Amino acid sequence: MTLGIKQEELLSKYQIDLDRRYNNTIPIGWIEMLDELFSKLIEAGWDRKVTQIKEKFGELRFYFYPNVPGLDIIVKTFEDKSSKLCYYCGNPATTESESSWISYRCEEHKRTSWRDFE
Ligand SMILES: [Zn+2]
Repeated sequence: MTLGIKQEELLSKYQIDLDRRYNNTIPIGWIEMLDELFSKLIEAGWDRKVTQIKEKFGELRFYFYPNVPGLDIIVKTFEDKSSKLCYYCGNPATTESESSWISYRCEEHKRTSWRDFE
């Protein structure tokens, strides 16, 4: 899946070196959260290299090599946080999607399909 404009803008804002050999899916509702994550990691000395950013079982998965101690703890905090945010808008999630595919949603986006955002 190719990344949308917002995702690409965020990556270039922080000059993130994302490995394009893997499938990277970044929910649109996570942009703000990732913005915060990137700035915290960079502040802590991150080399801006990341192998993969994706969603799994409704939660953020961020695969990278922590080049300085403590980075993995920051990432873990955000992985936990991701399941409390709506996949589509970043508002607090109130529900899981009604399909078998787990993703967290707010009331408004309870029935929204991925396709509506492409
Ligand atoms: Zn929403």
